[in-house]
Amino acid sequence: MNPIESRINELRRQLEQYNYEYYVRDNPSVSDYEYDMLMNQLKDMEKAHPEYDDVNSPTHRVGGQVATGFEKVTHARSMLSLGNSYNRDDIMDFLHRIESERGSCEYVVELKIDGLAMSVQYRDGRFVRAVTRGDGVVGEDVTMNVRTIRSIPMNIEYQGELDVRGEVYMPRDSFRKLNEERAGQGQEVFANPRNAAAGSIRQLDSAVAASRNLQAFWYHLPQAAELGIDSHEHALQFLEEQGFRVNPLRKICRNVDEVWQFIQQISAQRDDLAYDIDGMVIKVNDLQAQSELGFTQKYPRWAIAYKFPAEEVTTQLLDIFCTVGRTGKVTPNAHLSPVTLAQTSVEYATLHNENFIRERDIRVGDQVVVHKAGDIIPEVVKVVLERRRPDSRPYVFPSVCPVCGEQLHRFEDEADWYCLNIDCQAVVVESISHFASRDAMNIDGLGEKKVETFHRAGLLKTVADIYHLHEHREELMELDKIGSKSCDNLFRAIEDSKQNNLDKLIFGLGIKHIGSKAASVLAGAFPSIDQIRNASFEEISAIDTFGDIMADSVVSFFRDEKNIALIEALKEQGVNMIYQASQSYTSIFTNRTVVLTGTLDSMGRSEATAYLTQLQAKVTSSVSRSTDIVIAGHDAGSKLTKAQELGIQVMDEQDLVSELVRVGLISR
Ligand code: NAD
Repeated sequence: MNPIESRINELRRQLEQYNYEYYVRDNPSVSDYEYDMLMNQLKDMEKAHPEYDDVNSPTHRVGGQVATGFEKVTHARSMLSLGNSYNRDDIMDFLHRIESERGSCEYVVELKIDGLAMSVQYRDGRFVRAVTRGDGVVGEDVTMNVRTIRSIPMNIEYQGELDVRGEVYMPRDSFRKLNEERAGQGQEVFANPRNAAAGSIRQLDSAVAASRNLQAFWYHLPQAAELGIDSHEHALQFLEEQGFRVNPLRKICRNVDEVWQFIQQISAQRDDLAYDIDGMVIKVNDLQAQSELGFTQKYPRWAIAYKFPAEEVTTQLLDIFCTVGRTGKVTPNAHLSPVTLAQTSVEYATLHNENFIRERDIRVGDQVVVHKAGDIIPEVVKVVLERRRPDSRPYVFPSVCPVCGEQLHRFEDEADWYCLNIDCQAVVVESISHFASRDAMNIDGLGEKKVETFHRAGLLKTVADIYHLHEHREELMELDKIGSKSCDNLFRAIEDSKQNNLDKLIFGLGIKHIGSKAASVLAGAFPSIDQIRNASFEEISAIDTFGDIMADSVVSFFRDEKNIALIEALKEQGVNMIYQASQSYTSIFTNRTVVLTGTLDSMGRSEATAYLTQLQAKVTSSVSRSTDIVIAGHDAGSKLTKAQELGIQVMDEQDLVSELVRVGLISR
């Protein structure tokens, strides 16, 4: 075999392997940029040597593969990929090609959502099926999982058959939480939100998919022309009218300057978006023109993707150091040789925990691949083993706290190490900073740096000391070199915080496993600190969305005398300990005990619980004689039967939704 043919074969093999890792295992081993460069190299070689062309080459195939475990569905109209461009010149070439065939055109420029392509199908105004892109011709039936995405309309006004295409994605927030949870449980973390979304949609258990907080944007109506729609923009408006989520960040452009300017504008806002985008898509607006331009085997000829520059880079790991959080959790961090990544300079990245380091065998001195997407904390993805120094040594996780020197402890079934010394300076400073933070007591002017300074000076030993800071005015001004006005502002913010609602205080207390949402639900269920303190494990675990671990954590917190002393000290300072529902909605659920059962189409269980809590209902997880109302979604089982036996009032999802609309909590 001559060297050219052998290189072509090698590239094809390599790309097939990467396709498998990316589309089937949701676990890529190289960056998209590296993949795209190899693909371009193969394309160039095949073009220069057509004698080696092969219909099965990855250059001719839409990337995905059909996973096993799901029913296979042949798409009525194939689902294609997009051609790529990387700079203004590539876009100009695309526009020139279009205009040489069609004369001047309008283009719709949209965000390229970094998720996985999906087709959702409707019949008689009802959602009937969702299918992945798969290999473009055959996809996987993932209806059960897609149904759990709450923003997808289950009923639409249009009554004919409709096939709507778009992207299912995982918002950055959900991705961050999911990876934190997985790292905490010692599970492998997802490389990026795209892989996490794809992995969630391919779950055989739809309860897992439901817990992953997926979202979707819709951007294509293949049958638009048949419905008498004349442009892509009008098709998007039609989808909006039918209740689909269409991304509002789009623009009609008439030439390359307008296109490029919009791309620059979006690039600048990219970090502030709630989701990842990996580029922009430029589409010919006129549908007649689209139909005349047609398709290649792999792409529409009327659209092209512009891909943003790489978000992964390779750099040297200079050191590994550990920090201690408010719960005492010890997190290893990477100190990197500074690199520019996603337009910002990166010097530090998270290494999650000991398992994460051990599984990847990350060592000081290694060349590592660092990934960053938007505002997500950069993460070391892997080591470039070929470039490892021969004298490198495996990293040894510290056995003592890097701050106070106390022996570290690892709980059974947990991946993290903890410093259990409650007087450890790091734990104290982090707990006080958390108490003062925005989502907790929101004390403006009391950030981590100040807390640390005041703590070192012996003025802030516990959270309760915050409310005595005004007694040390001169000292504070001296210590922190702050002016009299800033000092007054800080004291005012501290004073104001006493009026905060109870959920803010509960979150601020930093009870393990109780985030800000759970704090609101807990305060809704037991509207004073004394009621929470006196509640039993059974009563707390009966709150829907509260598992045993959370209930146990609340009970243990209030059993600890130190915590009780802290609460008493805060009470003495006049900190509010009562929950006021944010707005007094009066509804058929107010002051009633409600149980949710079965699957709801339009919202998840935790969302329904949050709404009911706002309506001052007490939401519990099991049906008993004290239950007033059972809301039954579809596939409701034994709870519904029990409710019927006990003669308890049963309502359906529609009753709940109508009531939420009536009181103005949601609009339909
Ligand atoms: P793509 O991601 O380059 O573009 C096509 C896809 O964009 C569409 O299928 C659709 O899902 C999506 N999209 C998002 N917003 C859209 C919008 N507004 N309009 C239209 N489409 C929109 O193509 P692909 O075939 O899904 O994936 C190929 C790419 O995946 C490669 O270029 C590479 O970057 C990456 N990849 C990486 C690896 C790896 O190992 N790292 C392996 C395989 C593929």
